[in-house]
Amino acid sequence: MIKSIDEVRIEGKKVLVRVDFNVPLDENQNITDDTRIKESLPTIDKIIDYGSIPVLMSHLGRPKGEPNPKYSLEPVAKLMLEKYGYDVIFTKDCIGKPAQEAVNLAEAGQVVLLENLRFHKEEEKNDIEFAKQLAMLGDAYVNDAFGSAHRAHASTESIAKLFDIRLAGYLMINEIEYLGKSVTNPVKPFVAVLGGAKISGKIDVIKNLMDKCNSILIGGGMAYTFFKAMGFGIGKSLLEEDRVVLAKLLLKEASTKNVKLMLPFDIVIADSFNNEANCKTVNSDSIPDGWIGMDIGPETQKIFSDEISKARTVVWNGPMGVFEMENFAKGTYAVAQALAQATSKGATTIVGGGDSASAINKMNFQNKVTHVSTGGGASLEYLEGKILPGIAALEM
Ligand code: AMP
Repeated sequence: MIKSIDEVRIEGKKVLVRVDFNVPLDENQNITDDTRIKESLPTIDKIIDYGSIPVLMSHLGRPKGEPNPKYSLEPVAKLMLEKYGYDVIFTKDCIGKPAQEAVNLAEAGQVVLLENLRFHKEEEKNDIEFAKQLAMLGDAYVNDAFGSAHRAHASTESIAKLFDIRLAGYLMINEIEYLGKSVTNPVKPFVAVLGGAKISGKIDVIKNLMDKCNSILIGGGMAYTFFKAMGFGIGKSLLEEDRVVLAKLLLKEASTKNVKLMLPFDIVIADSFNNEANCKTVNSDSIPDGWIGMDIGPETQKIFSDEISKARTVVWNGPMGVFEMENFAKGTYAVAQALAQATSKGATTIVGGGDSASAINKMNFQNKVTHVSTGGGASLEYLEGKILPGIAALEM
């Protein structure tokens, strides 16, 4: 059983909190998007409210196991102070004397932020001795880093087992509640909308959802491999030649399992891969040679929206087209709109991280769906039905 920070009062303690502060930085070390920080503030505030001291640990980027100022978490400490008013003590190393001294000095109301965990190669190796050194800095452990939960690292896995009190923060609990429970035990009809570039990245998601969904709507680049499998000409559209056989098998599996696997009926094609290209809408089986499928067409937008409107649970992962280009973003936005409408009619709607999350945010729809996952890779693995090591380690 996993317990949340609401269920166990962690009073007057030093609490080691694994957060995901892997924020994007520009060339001047300015944080360009602080969503990941903002999302863990409720957990940090709760620990402070308990009269405890949060000792925050995170990775940032890929420093490959050695200190590198480019990947320092110092800008995060600065932002937490300047933008959110936290009294932050930043430590130059996440273990050893600097870290221990900072933790000893910290008083109630303050927050300690440890330097990048990945400055030590032992972090990604899930090294138990490194985990023990981190564990010396706290009396309790909280994991709020869903985005890193699919990785068995020292700060997500080994460390948890060293604490009797190991809890999930609010962000983590929300992900378990929505992404986890809705998918394992969905209220039906359950519709999955899958898009993005390739089938290969989502095979296990499709397979897992095949046993749970009433319908699977497929858009984005992966649709063209299915079209190829159906014998359609696809011009220069994205194709994974080595997945055509798999696409055939998935189509067959869907029909045996009585799952409605819906592919785009019409698509927007372009004569080159850019926003200014000539484009037109054609039926999916009529892509002329040399043209590229870029987005789902208006008829498909309607059909997909209709299917979504009948659902009680919807999971969406992956854009319906090349949504970074304005002229090919309409299908993705139509799906976002359909999710928002379904939510207003009482459906549980879950957006699984990555590009679909950024589309929802771009439309300012994040509050119009039930849950937007914070983890790209982690949310995909959850949809694949995998057990995430960072979550499993919190079981008490
Ligand atoms: P993924 O990371 O697999 O979810 O893929 C996201 C990417 O898929 C986005 O960058 C989209 O531009 C891309 N994408 C979506 N539809 C297409 C398409 N029809 N052709 C090429 N790329 C696409």
